[in-house]
Parts: sequence; structure tokens; C-alpha cells
Amino acid sequence: MNQLSFPATRHEALRRLKSFQPSMGPSYAKGRNYDLGPGQRSNVSLLSPYISSRLILEEEVVRTALSRDSAEQSEKFVEEVFWRAYWKGWLELRPWIWEEYQSSLSEKIAWLYSHPPTHSVYASACEGTTDFSCFNSWVQELKTTGYLHNHARMWFASIWIFYLGLPWELGADFFYKHLLDGDPASNTLGWRWVAGLQTRGKQYIASPENIAKFTKDRFDMGALKCAKIKPFIASSAREKPPNEYQPALLESSGLIAPSLLLIFGEDHYLEGSPLKGMNVQSILGLSPKLLEPSLGLAANPLQFKLSALKDGLERAGQYFGLSTESVATLDSLKSNLHEIRRKNLTVSFLRPRVGPWRSLLENIFRDVGFQQGDLRIFERRWDAELYPLAQRGFFQFKRCIPSVIENLNLH
Ligand SMILES: Cc1cc2nc3c(=O)[nH]c(=O)nc-3n(C[C@H](O)[C@H](O)[C@H](O)COP(=O)(O)OP(=O)(O)OC[C@H]3O[C@@H](n4cnc5c(N)ncnc54)[C@H](O)[C@@H]3O)c2cc1C
Repeated sequence: MNQLSFPATRHEALRRLKSFQPSMGPSYAKGRNYDLGPGQRSNVSLLSPYISSRLILEEEVVRTALSRDSAEQSEKFVEEVFWRAYWKGWLELRPWIWEEYQSSLSEKIAWLYSHPPTHSVYASACEGTTDFSCFNSWVQELKTTGYLHNHARMWFASIWIFYLGLPWELGADFFYKHLLDGDPASNTLGWRWVAGLQTRGKQYIASPENIAKFTKDRFDMGALKCAKIKPFIASSAREKPPNEYQPALLESSGLIAPSLLLIFGEDHYLEGSPLKGMNVQSILGLSPKLLEPSLGLAANPLQFKLSALKDGLERAGQYFGLSTESVATLDSLKSNLHEIRRKNLTVSFLRPRVGPWRSLLENIFRDVGFQQGDLRIFERRWDAELYPLAQRGFFQFKRCIPSVIENLNLH
């Protein structure tokens, strides 16, 4: 099998996890920053499409690392997994950052059409026909595989913003449409970090020397060496304090009322979640097509998400001993939910985090007339432990790693 094809099943996720286990320690710490090209990815796990769709869980990944190497040896790898939790929590406490990004993206798209020169730079960036050969190669890689190495994502975003002079919002949108692991928190905040919006005054300017070193001279750096950096001035919006964290249910014991169980893009492992003890009457899968056309996902990520849902539904159906159904249009989702109301059933699901799924579900529950009491909203302990801690920078956040490992029994 081609190393960069990503079958969207839990079985495949576990297989990859196991095969990467020997590389989670010192070799990851030493080699992880090298982007040696598609087909040369044994230095990183390639697990992100599986983690961000929760075909496997962060705690499973951390436990696998710690079961082979000491905490010290696997520190770098474990820290990267905690970066994901940090970004998820950071956005969860600041939902307005996602809303601002969404409205700014719409403005930037409209603006582009009234600025033909920038529009043509944007078009050549999306086509991968710029003057920068490394950038063009990453565009092709992203479009064909749905994956980019972390360092390549940083360089890509930096070239987009500082060398091509394009709005970061359009780049984040381009990534989100093409990445298999596209995640509202890691992606939006990753782009904001490169632009210098996350850590004020700290922009990430990619240097040709750094790219040459960590790609082992795969690209011709001539054009990038000659290019002028375009200044990007971050708007200085006043920083608001984070919201208080809204906890959800951690277990289902005592909840005996029959329920409809929802499964959708953010988590495909319901039989390994707090929902597993519910009195489930039926299981409904929400197709990623419900988020179209506003997201405009490319064919690869759409297919990955459809297959992940199929896999998640099959396992949940087997576990609860029920047949399952999935819906792909808002009308059919609404009519299913109306039926649930008529039958006086509750609806149970894992809390969607800030992003398109949360917006969709909030709107639909309101339209159908569900009250808070009709909904059983759960969350995983990993999220409940970690997300409230994303108050400040990652440096402070990562101090919690030993105690979270202890509390969640990840040794
Ligand atoms: C501009 C930009 C956009 C990004 N967009 C996304 C995105 O949409 N979805 C996404 O999952 N990650 C995103 N990342 C983070 C990171 O690039 C990917 O998680 C990583 O490259 C995935 O490859 P891997 O699984 O081989 O990682 P590994 O190096 O093997 O890391 C293991 C796991 O740790 C987590 N992780 C690693 N690095 C980071 C990081 N910097 N931030 C958050 N989590 C991390 C991922 O879950 C990853 O699977 C983005 C980074 C940048 C700079």
C-alpha cells in the first residue's frame, strides 16, 4: 500500500499506531523536523487524519508512546499530541476567534474579486504555479495526498503571507478544504501563529536556508532567496479574557431514558466513549455532506470523512446491536429530529467543539425546537481535563502533562 494513502478505518489507525510505536522516542525527537518528501515519512506518525476524526484517541496515542519509552524519551512526541489539545482548548475558550475568522474570510473573498492583481497571485498560489518551486510542490502534494508535514505547513503559510502577500484567512481556508486532518482549531490557530496573531509581535518568517536544510536540498531556493518579504501588520484588536469552560456529562450511568445517538465528523469511536452505557434506541450518522456547500471540501478529504463515518457507524451498530442510518441533507436531518421529539426520546452525542459541526447542530436544534433538557451532551475526560487549562501560552499549559498522564492513567 502507498504510504500516503489513508484508509479511514479504526483498524487502519490502530495498525499505524502500532507500527509507529518504535519511532515515538529518541528517533522522533531527532528526525521529526525533516520534510524529506512524500513516501519518505517514517520520521513522523501520519496519524493526524485519524486523531482529528477520533478514529483513535489522543490518550491511546500517548499511552502507546509511554508503554515503550520513558516519559523523557517520548517527551517530544507526547508534547506534540498535547499541542493539539492546547489548540482545541484555546479555541473552545475563545469561540469569537472562529466567528471573526469566518466573517473575515467572507470579506477577504469578496475583496479578492475587486483586486485583480491579488486575485491572480491567489489563483497561481492555489494552482501551484508561483515562482517558488518548494511552495508549488507542497500545493501538489496537498492536493494529491491531503497531507503536509508540519514544517511544510509552517513554511507554506509563511510564504503565503509574507512572500506572496496574500491574506492568511484565504490560506487557512485553502488548507481546510484540502487537508484530511483539517481541524478548526489546529488549522486556524496554526495560521494565526505563523502570521503573528497568536503571540503578538512574533511572526514566523520562513528562511530559504532553513527550508533547504530540513528538506535536504530537494528544492531550488533561488527565487525565494531573491524575493522581498512583504510586511503584514496584524490588527490590534483588544484581547478579551477567555470564557469560562462549559463542562458536559462524563458518564452515562443512571441515564435510562431511551435516546437517539448522533455520530458525526469529530468523533468516530462511540463504543469507546462515555456514551457506551446509554439506552440507545437508534443511531444516526451525520454525513459530512451536511456541511457542504459552505465548506467546499476537496474530493480526498470528503471521501476520507465519508469512509470514517461508515466505519464509525458500523462499529457503533455492532456494539449496540442496532441497525444504523445516515443523513446527508438538512431536510432529512430535521425530519428525523422531529420524529424523535414526537416520540419523546432524548438525543445523545459528544459535544461538538468550536467549528462547523457545532454551528450546524446549534442551529438545527433551535429550528426543531429542542430544549436543553432534551439533549444529553457528553465529553471525554481528556477534553474535560485539558481544555479548561488552555488559559495562556503553551509553555504554561504543558506543565500539566505529568498530572494529566497520572489522572488519566496513561502510564
Ligand atoms: C499552518 C498550520 C496548519 C495546521 N493545520 C492542522 C490541521 O488542520 N489539523 C491538524 O491535525 N494539525 C494541523 N497542524 C498541526 C500539524 O502540522 C499536524 O498535526 C501534523 O503535521 C500532523 O502530522 P503527523 O500526524 O505526522 O504528526 P506527528 O509529528 O507524528 O505528531 C503526532 C500528532 O500530534 C499532533 N500534532 C503534531 N504537531 C502538532 C501541532 N503543531 N499542532 C497541533 N497538533 C500537532 C497531531 O495530532 C499529530 O498527529 C497545522 C500546523 C500548521 C503550522
